[in-house]
Amino acid sequence: MRKKLATIEKAYRIIECAKQSCKNKQSLYRLEDIALYPGYAEPGYDDPPSGCIALGNWNSVSKWDEEKRQFVTVDATLPKLAKKLEAMGIALEWEDEWISCESCGKIFRTSPNSYGWQLSGVIEDGFCLCHECIDPEDHLRGLENKGRKCNTIKSINPKDHGYVCIQDEFENGLYGGQCADPGAIAKILRGIGITRFLFNLDDTCQFDIAFSVWLHNSELARLDDAKRAIREGNTNGVDPAELMKNALKNAPITFVSPQDFVEGKDWRSK
Ligand SMILES: [Zn+2]
Repeated sequence: MRKKLATIEKAYRIIECAKQSCKNKQSLYRLEDIALYPGYAEPGYDDPPSGCIALGNWNSVSKWDEEKRQFVTVDATLPKLAKKLEAMGIALEWEDEWISCESCGKIFRTSPNSYGWQLSGVIEDGFCLCHECIDPEDHLRGLENKGRKCNTIKSINPKDHGYVCIQDEFENGLYGGQCADPGAIAKILRGIGITRFLFNLDDTCQFDIAFSVWLHNSELARLDDAKRAIREGNTNGVDPAELMKNALKNAPITFVSPQDFVEGKDWRSK
């Protein structure tokens, strides 16, 4: 613990020194925005040996040089600082990809690092909590009766917190026919008086997602009704693949055919 504090103190000192000697305004703003955090609360990430992570924009400041026809570096304060911090065992991340938990101060990703990524915490208007600090039952309760929200936290399985699965393998995506609509499903359940349901995001791929709908134990007596209503009702919304097809059809995209070249046609006026 003492060693960790010493690292943090030293890091802040180095950042302060960089501020003192920095002559570039943009770099100075970036230096002021750097913040240190006590660890990751993101699945798949191990804390660095120093136990300290810095968030920032580590790019150098550059500008376009008309004569050289290329970008030239104007100020390299940030990448130089980044090297120093890394040498101290501090992990560096980009500030626009992470957020910190207001309970434990650890950070989790707000933007994907892979196709299968799912948000592991909760970011609401009033608060931001990592998956380690969330109360699973409160979290799931807050998702009930909502057609536009779902649980994305993989470590919280509704099954472990008093819910039973009504149906899974709903799909929404671009492969055609993947048009299950949580809004339509919510409407069906509300239509038969069921409100303690929630959605769970089961799988995220590049072009589609899979989700399931769950019922709270307190309405267990209605499970068969819920299953039947969903089986018989229309759980589909608009097919995203159809939307995509229409959008492409109507998009002002023109292609030049080899024949156009041969004929010297003005293809833009097609
Ligand atoms: Zn936390």
